[in-house]
Parts: sequence; C-alpha cells; structure tokens
Amino acid sequence: MKIINPATEETIQEITEYSSESIKQIFLKLKKGQLSWKQIPISERLNRIRIFSDLLGTNKDELAKILTSEMGKPLWQSLNEINGAQYRINFFLENSEKYLSDEWQILEGNTKEKISYEPLGIIANISAWNYPYLVGVNVFIPALIAGNSVLYKPSEYATLTGLKIEELLLKAGIPDNCFKAIAGGKNAGEALLDLPLDGYFFTGSFKTGKYIAEKVAPKLVPCQLELGGNDPLYVADDVESIKNVANSAVEGVFYNNGQSCCAVKRIYVHQKVYDEFICCFLEELKKWKVGNPMEDGVMIGPVARKEHLIFLEDLVSDALKKGAVLLCGGQRSPSSGKGWGFSPTVFSNVDHTMRLMKEETFGPVIGIQKVINDDEAAALMQDTEFGLTVSVYSKDKFRAEKILAGMNTGTAYWNCCDRVSPFLPWSGRKNSGIGATLSHLGIRAFAKPKGWHLRS
Ligand code: NAD
Repeated sequence: MKIINPATEETIQEITEYSSESIKQIFLKLKKGQLSWKQIPISERLNRIRIFSDLLGTNKDELAKILTSEMGKPLWQSLNEINGAQYRINFFLENSEKYLSDEWQILEGNTKEKISYEPLGIIANISAWNYPYLVGVNVFIPALIAGNSVLYKPSEYATLTGLKIEELLLKAGIPDNCFKAIAGGKNAGEALLDLPLDGYFFTGSFKTGKYIAEKVAPKLVPCQLELGGNDPLYVADDVESIKNVANSAVEGVFYNNGQSCCAVKRIYVHQKVYDEFICCFLEELKKWKVGNPMEDGVMIGPVARKEHLIFLEDLVSDALKKGAVLLCGGQRSPSSGKGWGFSPTVFSNVDHTMRLMKEETFGPVIGIQKVINDDEAAALMQDTEFGLTVSVYSKDKFRAEKILAGMNTGTAYWNCCDRVSPFLPWSGRKNSGIGATLSHLGIRAFAKPKGWHLRS
C-alpha cells in the first residue's frame, strides 16, 4: 500500500496491508486481552488514557506533520485537530466513570434493583481519513474506557496517523492485546466484517456504511454509523453584520478544504441581502491562501484523494450546464505543478436540479441560492437525503429556533456552523447515520446495560 503526499504526489512510505488471516489471529489475541482489560479498575484505565492524551500533546508537532503529509490539510489545522482530540479525551476522562457506574433504582424493600454497564467485548472501529484523530477518539477512547478491546482500522488515507495512534496508546500502557491498528483498505475492512465481533462503529461514506450495516445485521450486535452530510446554511435578512456572517460561512465551507462531514455544503440567502452576502463572501475568500499545506499562512491545501478531482469537475460542469454562474475557481489548481489542488469554487444562481446542491461535495465547491423567505429556505434545506447538521443565521433567536426545530437533523446551529462539542451527542439522521457518539450517549454506546433484581 503506497502512502502518497497529496500536495507533492511523492510516495512517503510503502506499507504491507494486513491479510485476513493475520487479522483473524489478532482477533484471537484481543479476545484473550479483553478479559483481563475489563478487570482492571476503571480508574486505572482512565489513568492510561490520560497518559495517551499527554503523549499527543508532547508529540504534537511530529504528529501534525505526519497528518498533513498524508492527507493534505494545512499544518495549523492538523495541530488544531490534535488539540481538539485532547479536549474530547478530557471530556471522557471527566465523565466516563459517572455514566458507567452502577445505578441503584430501588434501594428499599425486599427486592433491590440496579443497572450495571458491561463492556460490549471486542469492537471494530472502521474510520475515515478527514479527521482521523477526532473521529477515532470518538470511538476508541470511550470503548477502551468501558473495558472493550478495539480493532481499529484507520482509513488507507490516514494509515501513518493510525499507526502513530497505536504506538502512543501502547506507550501509555494500553496492552497490545487490547488495541490493534489494522493497516489496509477495503479488504482489511471486509475481514473485520467476517469476524464475530461484538460491535461495529463506522465513520465514512453512506455507501460503505449502508453496506456494512447490511452485512453485519445478522450478527445482532450494535452497529453505529457516522456518515456524510449535505449541510445547509441559511442567512436571514435581519442579520446584524453580513460581513461577519459571510466570514463565518467561508470558514464553514472551506476549513479542511470542505472535507468535513459537517462542512457547509450549500448556502441559502434571503433575497434582500443576497447580493451583499455574495460580495462579502468572495472578499473574504480572497484572503484564504491556497498552496502547500506545510507552508505558513496556507489555508487551503490539496484534496486528499486524487479521484475526487474528477468528481468535483463533474459537479462543476453539471452546474454550468444547468445555468449556474461561476464566480471563482472551477478547475484544478496544482500549487507547484504537482499535487491534487482544486481552486476554491463559488457558484451563484444555483438550484436543486444541480448535483452540487443535492450531493455531498466534500471539497472546496459551494453553491449560493437566493430565497424569497424563511419558508422557502426551510423547504430547500429539508430537500435532502442527509440529516447531519443545519445552520441558521439571524439576530432573532425565536425565528431561528422555529426553523431549526422543523429540521430532521442530529445537530442544529444558530449563528454558528461546522462545529462539534464533546458535551453534545454527535449523530446523523436519514443517510447521515444511526446512533450517537460523544456526550453521555457516546459513553454508554460502548457498554451494555444489565438490570439486576436482588431479593434478600
Ligand atoms: P469510505 O466510506 O470510503 O471509507 C471509510 C472506511 O471504510 C475506510 O477505513 C475504508 O477503508 C473502509 N471501507 C471501505 N470499504 C469497506 C468495506 N467494503 N468493508 C469494510 N470497510 C470498508 O469513507 P471516507 O472517504 O474514508 O470518508 C469520507 C466520508 O466520511 C464522507 O462521506 C464524510 O462525510 C464521512 N464522515 C462522517 C463523519 C461523521 O461524524 N458523520 C465524520 C467524518 C467523515
């Protein structure tokens, strides 16, 4: 398996993909390991996770360089991601014991009743490349804390990061028969589906997620899916500063080169402020320097996967054919003659016949559509197969909440976008997935409840 730098197209390293036979052997090893891991007191498991978080901190510069070199996000964003991962881990450190401890329901009378939380067993964490630390931490940290063993398959586009995560977890004292990173792509993932695991936790595309859910359904074990999004943002006509909203929207669209599940993927603007919004949006976007993600000041690097360039080109030509107006970008932009760069691309005059308004773009391409009122905006925002996040900008909280309450999404944003909090559940609806990570729900997702009836 070749690890290629998307900014330079150079091969960084070649790695041997795990075979299904070797994955089976690892599973047998983890099966034994989990039995001892779950016996270790939770306070000690938490101690080791705390050491892992400290190791992320002390190795941050090296880890950020590895991440940027293999998936192309600007170096400062890689550093942000590692900081964010530590923040999430801290949430789990502070809250896990509370949500995994026994809960007494009835303490009086002959028959006492309590709930206990037991680990699932050995789980698969099949992960994505766009935020390998964040989406990984959502799963393997609470899973380990709850006493599970984890077969962690990083994306083939974030393999080196996945192997580093393994190295640091082991250094922090997680036994090597409790956590294993499986280098590989689709075949390694398939091998995990064939094993009798106790839970499947997947982050990735709808297509793969649906396939996995169907394949593991007969096992009758938990299967959680964190999938894609087609996240809309609506700008009402009463916003106090169009400029500030436009700046926030640019960040929501182009941070991580648009390769975020909750990146803003389509924008609707009230007709009264449409023209001004477009001017401010383009003005702000000009400040976003495109180039080599290792260089200071670069805001937009290459896309992570070469084949995605063709997908983005198809979206652009489809929009042009159907009458959209191209305001900037629209083609590949290699920074130095090499690399998988795509120019930040903005369209006006878009509508829902165009693919870029209906599909997950997952790149630096955005359409901005004019709407006549809140009702039209709400109807368009709901016209999607996805249900991850939705964002409304208005100075009127009541007006925004009225729209947000009617949206079938796992997350609602008022005057903000493209953010995740460990205190809140992260969950998709419709084609954006099933189940939740983060919050107390994302702690309990890795445990099974047992109801105790204790008669004396
Ligand atoms: P992907 O579906 O191509 O791959 C995800 C993982 O599945 C990879 O590790 C891959 O090797 C593995 N895989 C592929 N085929 C498999 C198979 N047949 N059996 C088992 N495993 C298999 O997705 P991606 O390109 O890595 O990630 C991008 C997608 O992830 C986007 O749609 C994005 O929105 C979504 N995502 C969602 C969230 C969220 O929290 N909702 C977070 C990050 C990314």
